[in-house]
Amino acid sequence: MGTAVGAEPCIFCEIAAHRGPAHVVYEDANSIVFLDIFPFTRGHLLVVPKRHVDRLVDLDPSEYAGYFAALAQACRQVETLTKDYNVGLNQGPLAGQIVFHLHFHIIPRYDAGNPFGPMPRTRLSDADGAAIVRELGGPIPR
Ligand code: AMP
Ligand code: ZN
Repeated sequence: MGTAVGAEPCIFCEIAAHRGPAHVVYEDANSIVFLDIFPFTRGHLLVVPKRHVDRLVDLDPSEYAGYFAALAQACRQVETLTKDYNVGLNQGPLAGQIVFHLHFHIIPRYDAGNPFGPMPRTRLSDADGAAIVRELGGPIPR
């Protein structure tokens, strides 16, 4: 399991090492999936490799299969909420990346409204987080 290089601990490394709080819906040896703390929509997930890499191109090819399997598993869980969702990856500040530890977003869509507009994103409450994790059948494995 990796750690960030530099003085500041990486928040996703902290979550991957179970030192930071998160509403985890799926976890295996190399990946962890948890609820975004400022969700665009209900059930917004982040799919994170436990090893600290900033970018997709930093992954070792031997890690591709496991990471993609975790992404597919998380999509399967989201499909218990809705069959409509976006999968996204922001790479670099100009693309909107603010956490420099690789993560795919899975953003459920419930209606035709655009959740990516300039509307405020409210912080996920612990009660909502726990309810959504239950609804997604998590945490897996228990
Ligand atoms: P990005 O803009 O692609 O770097 O996305 C980073 C995402 O991480 C944002 O949607 C944040 O809301 C989310 N985030 C930041 N800190 C945490 C945290 N401690 N737990 C869960 N999600 C987080
Ligand atoms: Zn990290």
